Order: sequence, then structure tokens, then C-alpha cells
Amino acid sequence: MGTQKWRRRPGQVVFTHEARCRDCYRCLRACPVKAIRVVEGQAYVDADRCIACGTCIRECPQHAKAFRVDLEEAMRLMAGPGPKAASVAPSFAALLGPENQNRLPGALRRLGFDFVGETASGAHEVARRTGELFRAAPSGQIICTACPAVVQYIEQYAPDLVDRLAPVVSPMIAHARILRARLGPETKVVFFGPCVTKKAEAGRPELRADVDCVLTFSEMVQWLAQEGITLPDCGESPFDESPPGDSRYFPLPGGLARTAGLATDLLDEQIIAVDGMEDLEQALDRLRNSDEPVLLEPLFCAQGCVNGAGMPGRGNLFARRRGVLDYAARHPGAAAKAPAPPDLGTSHRRAPADGGAFPDAEINAVLERTGKGAAEDQLNCGACGYGSCRDQAAAVLRGMATPEMCIPHMRRLAEQRGDRIIETTPNGVVILDGDLNVLAMNPAFRRMFQCGDGLLGKRVSHLMDAEPFERVTASGEPFEETVRHGSYRRVCRQMIYTMPEERQTVGIFVDITRAVASEEQLETLRAETGRKARELLDHQVRMAQEMARFLGASTAQSEELVRNMLLLAEARREQAPGE
Ligand code: SF4
Ligand code: SF4
Repeated sequence: MGTQKWRRRPGQVVFTHEARCRDCYRCLRACPVKAIRVVEGQAYVDADRCIACGTCIRECPQHAKAFRVDLEEAMRLMAGPGPKAASVAPSFAALLGPENQNRLPGALRRLGFDFVGETASGAHEVARRTGELFRAAPSGQIICTACPAVVQYIEQYAPDLVDRLAPVVSPMIAHARILRARLGPETKVVFFGPCVTKKAEAGRPELRADVDCVLTFSEMVQWLAQEGITLPDCGESPFDESPPGDSRYFPLPGGLARTAGLATDLLDEQIIAVDGMEDLEQALDRLRNSDEPVLLEPLFCAQGCVNGAGMPGRGNLFARRRGVLDYAARHPGAAAKAPAPPDLGTSHRRAPADGGAFPDAEINAVLERTGKGAAEDQLNCGACGYGSCRDQAAAVLRGMATPEMCIPHMRRLAEQRGDRIIETTPNGVVILDGDLNVLAMNPAFRRMFQCGDGLLGKRVSHLMDAEPFERVTASGEPFEETVRHGSYRRVCRQMIYTMPEERQTVGIFVDITRAVASEEQLETLRAETGRKARELLDHQVRMAQEMARFLGASTAQSEELVRNMLLLAEARREQAPGE
């Protein structure tokens, strides 16, 4: 299967920077819904399964997972017609110190916003309506949440509980509707918050008309820097509205119930606030298995929105939480007004991500293929990123994973392949322990040195000079040399190295006996040829002298001729041995 199909879709909220991905699968291990699809070793975000929670963005050590940056869209809106309203999530107090919190409204006005409000105003309305629902049906079970990741999780991965989601929009959507009702329908609303999922929420077909652009606090910081706006240069000023009651607490676990004026006592059995995926799953199971009345208030991120993936930096979570609590305490909410006019109702859909369980036979076939047919071979180690071997097999059937992701299976294969190579190589391989006793030998080594299992456990000196092994073991430095093993009539090029962690020494012997013998024969042939060439030249010199004398040439001419011939002979003699 090609990878093109799984690359980033237009508008996809969370995606992979392929060049940065090192295929470590940490994102897969962290992804609460296993929305990472591994194709040809590359970890892609499957847009159909992803709930945009941002966990993988926080987890990836290579920063290969990223969210869509919408700064250009925000700037385009600012340049267009209509009043511009900013809706700022209360977690801004976790991002900025007290000295800058009251300067943020001014900074956003310098970006061009006509109205700078707090999303907490929307939370107040959402909480009010949720409280009414709960009071009207005190024996029911209601899931009320400000968190779109939870909503999407329930729709796709716990669709049996969709009916229990309160049919009320999120604080972000509520605030956008309140702002438009107040400032006019042509108002452009930009939301600023810590949350990546809200980008996905704003893109839902039924909510697309509410928020025009969602920016994370990371993008907000980038935008201000781009425009050269620094908070210390902005004067202090209040937001353009004052949210009622305790609504500034809503990004923290239990905050929405508190905003609704419901008890959030940790011991209260009817109101359960949970944060983080593990607690969410447990709480949903509790709803499934009990008909006790309960109001469940979940947030997907541990410690709530102060841990959202769109928060810049990695500050201490509890310090961030403190920031929100302190700001809320220093800015007590206004008195509640009559309910705001807009309709804050919504409906939720069942959209199961998976088409149901696979038959056992299909799962077992995948397990067989990866050497895990027997229950004892199913380690359920989680190294592949899945909770169990059966989950991984199901992911293989779904096309989300490949059998090669099973690390114990691949290690077994590699060991088998490694063993096979060692068994079949024509080179001798011997493995010694720390005392240079023989631990293992391959067939080639046994043939070369005419030994068998009787040598196992004995010192290598029983077979050959142990000095090179001792030297390598002592120094830890690999060593390579050509050695003539006279007793075995072999000449070997031998390489010796240590494996310190295993406290073992390995010897590899390449038999070069034939090559050396051929070289020696060649040497003999060269020497013989040189000798014959010299004899021939001497003979020629003598013949020349004879001829000169016979022809009666002058002594001088004769000597000249002889000298030249001698020089010629010398030159040829030097040339002859190497020819
Ligand atoms: S954003 Fe969340 S759901 Fe999507 S791939 Fe990352 S961890 Fe999984
Ligand atoms: S807990 Fe808050 S920041 Fe995290 S996904 Fe939910 S709404 Fe977004």
C-alpha cells in the first residue's frame, strides 16, 4: 500500500512531519485511540480515527507531530470586513504571570480586535443549562463536558454512551454565539486557547458558522511576536466583559460543575469530575455498569485544559493550575444575569471508528503468522504500541499496523537469520567466554581446525596460540592479522574482537590457504624466469664480444659496443624479474 493516501489531508488538524519522524512509535504508544497508522515504517495520523487530543504532539521527542497553524487565516479575517471579537480561554492565566495577565486585552486590541472577551462567559451559560438538565432529571446519568476531545471520543469510541452527553454546546461555541448576538451577525470570532481539539470542533459541519478561527496560545504568542507586540509595552486594561460567578474555573477538573453551582466535593457520589484518559475510561465503564444517577464531568487532558497541547512550553502543571486559581480568586465573577438569548443546544452523533470485532479465526491467523499462536508466546508487552498481542493483530487486520511492528517477533526472526548466516558461512567463527573457554563454534571452524563438541568448555589454547585472544581481551581493541596454523596446514586471516557486555570474545577465521599457496607458486615462477633471463643476457654479451673480435673492429669500437650492450643488458635484467 502506498503512503500517499495517508499523508496530511487538506485541513487535517494533527499530522506527521514525515522528514522528522524516526519511526519510534512513541506516538502510537501514547495515542489513546490508536489513531496512528503505520505504513511502510512511517507513523501517519489517520484523520478518520484521530480525535485531535494532541497527546502525540506532547509525546513525540522529534517534534514530528504537529497541529495545523491557522495564523494566516486569522490575519486574513482581521483584514476583512466586520467587527472582530477575541474569545480568550481562562487558561491564559496559566500561561502569563500576574504582571502580564491584565496586559493581554490591550495586546489583543493592538492586533486589531474590537472586542476582547473571556470564554468563561460562555462556560457560565453552558453550566447553567447543564445544571438545569441535571436538576430536572436527578435520577439520570449526564455527561457534561467543556472538552471536545471527550465528545469526539464518546462519539467514535464509546458510541453506546452518546445519549448521555448533555445536548449543550461547548463554552467556546456558546461564547461565539453570545458574542454574535451582542455585536452583530457579521462579527468575526477568533478563539484563543490551550486546546488543539477545538480546531477540530470548530470545523464540525453543524458548528462551522460559530467560530471563524481557533488559535492556540502558542500561535497567539507567535502572532504577537510577529507584530512586535510585547506585553510589558501594553498598558493594563480589563476585558470587555466580566464573566459571571465561578466560570473562570471551568478549565480545571470539576470547574464546570462548580460554575453550575453544583457540589464538587470529592466525596460526592453523584458528581464525578475526572481528567485524563485512564480515569475517563474507568468513569465511562462505571456509567455502563450502573444505573446510579450521576453527573460526570470529564476533561481529556490530565489536570484539565492547563495541560492542553496548544500551551507553549512545558511548565509545571500544578503551577499552571495555581495561575488559574489565583486569577479567578483575584477577579471574582460578576452577578449572573438573565440567560443569554442564543440557542445553546446541540446534538451528538454515533460515529463508531471501528466496524466491530474481528472473528477469532482471523485474529488467530495473524497471531500464527507472527509466531504467537500459542498463548504463552503472546507476551502482551506493549512494545508495538498496542495493549495486547490480540489488539495488535486486530490493528493489522484493520490496516493500521504491520506484523513487523512486533519487536519480539522481529528479534526472533533476526536471531534465526543471524544463526543461519553463522551456520552457513565458509568462515570459521568461534565464541569464547571471559576466560577464553570455547562457548560455541560454527561448522566451518570445526572443519578448519578439525575439532568437535569435545572442545566446548575448554580453553582455546588447546587448539591454537591463545596470545592474540589474550591481547584483545585485555585491551578491548579489535585485532586483525594473517596467521599460519602449521598443524592444520592452513593460513588464516583472523579477526578477533570482544563483546564487553556479554564478556565474550569472538574470532573470525577466513581461510586464505589457497590464495597464499598460489602467491607462493607465482613467486617461484617469477624467480625462475628472472634467472633464465639473466643467463640469456650474459650469453648475448659474450656473443657480442666474440663478434667484435672476429670482425677485427678496433678495440675502442669493440669496447664501446660491449659497454652499450652491457648497459642494455642491465636495464633488461632489472626489468625481467617483475615481468
Ligand atoms: S492527536 Fe490524539 S488521537 Fe490524534 S493521533 Fe495524536 S494522540 Fe492520537
Ligand atoms: S482538556 Fe481542555 S485542552 Fe485538553 S483536549 Fe479537553 S478541552 Fe482541550
